[in-house]
Amino acid sequence: MTVTVPAPALKPVERSVLPRLSLARWRDDPVLFVFVVGVAIVALLFTLTALNAGGQASLWENAHWTAGVAVALAVTLLAARRSEGRAALIRGWLAISLAVYFVGQIMWDVQVANSYLAVPAPSDIFYLGSTAAAVVALAVAVHGRVSNLEERAVYIDAALVFFAISTGVLALYEPTAAQSGLAGFVLLAYPIFFMATAGAALVGALAGREKPGFRGAYVALFGFALNGLAWLIWIEASLTAFPGPGSPINYLFTIAMLLVGFGAATWTDEVSESPIYAGIASTLRGALPSGALLFSVGILIFQTTPAVNGIQALHVAPAIVVALSLVRQWVLSRENGRVLEQVRSSVEREQLSRERAQESLDAQRERAQESLDAQRESETRYRSTVDTFNRLSERISFASTDTDVVSAVAIAMPRLVPSCRGDVLLQNPSEDRLIVAAAWGDDRPAIGSSPPIDKPIQCPGIRRGSPYQIADASDDLSPGCPAHPASQGSVLCVPMLAMGQIIGVVHLQRPEVDAFEIDTQYQASRVAEQAALALANARLVRTMEGLAMTDPLTGLHNARFFDPLMDRELAAASREGRSLAVAMIDLDHFKQFNDAHGHPAGDEALRAFARTVLGAIRESDTVARYGGEEFVVLLRNTDLDGAARAAEKIRTALELLVVEIGPGRFGRITASFGVASTDAQGSDRLELLKEADQALYEAKQLGRNRVVAAPRLIPPVGAAAHPAFRREPALVANTASPGLEEQAAG
Ligand code: GH3
Ligand code: MG
Ligand code: MG
Repeated sequence: MTVTVPAPALKPVERSVLPRLSLARWRDDPVLFVFVVGVAIVALLFTLTALNAGGQASLWENAHWTAGVAVALAVTLLAARRSEGRAALIRGWLAISLAVYFVGQIMWDVQVANSYLAVPAPSDIFYLGSTAAAVVALAVAVHGRVSNLEERAVYIDAALVFFAISTGVLALYEPTAAQSGLAGFVLLAYPIFFMATAGAALVGALAGREKPGFRGAYVALFGFALNGLAWLIWIEASLTAFPGPGSPINYLFTIAMLLVGFGAATWTDEVSESPIYAGIASTLRGALPSGALLFSVGILIFQTTPAVNGIQALHVAPAIVVALSLVRQWVLSRENGRVLEQVRSSVEREQLSRERAQESLDAQRERAQESLDAQRESETRYRSTVDTFNRLSERISFASTDTDVVSAVAIAMPRLVPSCRGDVLLQNPSEDRLIVAAAWGDDRPAIGSSPPIDKPIQCPGIRRGSPYQIADASDDLSPGCPAHPASQGSVLCVPMLAMGQIIGVVHLQRPEVDAFEIDTQYQASRVAEQAALALANARLVRTMEGLAMTDPLTGLHNARFFDPLMDRELAAASREGRSLAVAMIDLDHFKQFNDAHGHPAGDEALRAFARTVLGAIRESDTVARYGGEEFVVLLRNTDLDGAARAAEKIRTALELLVVEIGPGRFGRITASFGVASTDAQGSDRLELLKEADQALYEAKQLGRNRVVAAPRLIPPVGAAAHPAFRREPALVANTASPGLEEQAAG
């Protein structure tokens, strides 16, 4: 049965604090110094023994035995003091072992001096006892160099070797042991203990290393083994002739002790790189336990042969070897199983942790994707919101009417606030009603309709001046909006305010309760604001335009309004083949009127004149104040004769006008008229006006308060072209004398 202990992959645990052995430096190194000096002393004692100096060979022999142990103890102690950690521990135990041995040696010396040579003697106890401390020391050296798996097997291997050696020694000297009884057994213990200690420690030392090292320890082991061998030879020699003082074998004990001391002191933790050394170590590692077992079994068979009359009790040793082998196998296989289980479970754990890592990675990736999607979606939403706002702004900036503005709101709002219905209500000019200007979604109110409210301020949004949400319209506690009644869901009232004016309100409604988030409210209110501002601006522009084109005194249009209007009307008339006429009017002797009645009375006369003209002309005609007391009337679909008649109608109405020029005082005004028309004077505005003005001048010349038509430049339809038409006599509609009259009230 060959059981190979696998070499564990372990690093050297620590290095010796001692420098490498260098004999050249022995003077600098106290350990080496003591050793060299000790060896010199021992050598001197060896010489004295060999020479039997003074006939005292026995004395010199005891002296070199004692000196050898003393030197070993001294160098080991010195080295231990200079070591740290485990190195100090190992050397400490070896020093204890040597100290115990040294005590045994001193006792031996005392026994010899007293001629006490009984077996067993007290010295034997100490000699043998020293091996116990040595075993501990070597166990410490081995400890930590083996894996958990092998540790037990290694110690069992050491025990196997220990008992195998014991078995061999006992078997070989069985007869001696049988003869000498207990005494022989004690003597046999020497080789057994020392050799077995060395052998067991060797197994441990070799088995525990990936690479063999530990050189100094091997020297110490060799010292122990040599001691055991010396004892074996000594016992064998003593069977025939007791080896007396100076016998060569007796030197071996001292040399063995010196080797133990040298090894203990110079041990280094260095690993040998030699392949030969590694080969020997691994062979030994594999072969030693099996060899020990085979050896023991062999001895057992040898003992049971009838030729050998064995001591039955000694069969215990080989039996123990066999039992230990079985235990060893059992321990190894159990450990193997445990390691396999560990490996399997660690593989499973690794697999599991890899799966978990993958899962968490997947989850992480998924979360990252989700957040990316959410970000993209919000970006898209944001972009579309910005886009909607941009388009809305653009559309509103091009809007020319209020309807354009609110219809833009009706398109943009459902995009920004989807799945809702809504409407835009605008405040009417008299500010007492809200009128539906736009609506979207289901059940929308009719455009132009009005919610049944007394005042627009009844809408909570308008009252508060900021968006107001009726979160749950079905709740009786909710205020509700009378301008947008709802029985359920939520309603958002977004006021349209601009330049301090209430322009209107936007209502949004959703079937869900509390459906308008802050974001939505903000967006809706921005749309409403933009629309309100656009509507207010448009109104402002209209007002400004009106002011710029209106005469403030009479409320009539002014020339700035009239000229472009006339251009447009002329173009339309010529396009449609209609004729168009103008009448220029100038009040007669108005300076005198002013002078006579004062400027305010003149103003009042101008206002009264304007009212009279407006009452006398058709709705399709337009009158404008052209200068101080000069007016112009545009008469649509009117030829020269028609124009003269219309002017005459105004003139007649003026004659009937009584102007209040002061409290209880009244005055009268007249005016002169010059008319021209497209059918008679052509379609050029300036030409027409010049002709009319010329006719007016003629009317003044002819005595005022009359109508003069401009002479025809174009012959009437059907009339032959005749030079006479060039300057037709002016049509004089009225020849009544012009003047200014004042009549007292009553
Ligand atoms: P004629 O019959 O030749 O037109 O005589 P006239 O006095 O009406 O003509 P003139 O051009 O000499 O005077 C016009 C007067 O109209 C002078 C001016 O005081 C008066 N007038 C012009 N604008 C206003 C106005 O806004 N208010 C008042 N009260 N008078 C005005
Ligand atoms: Mg005038
Ligand atoms: Mg005048």
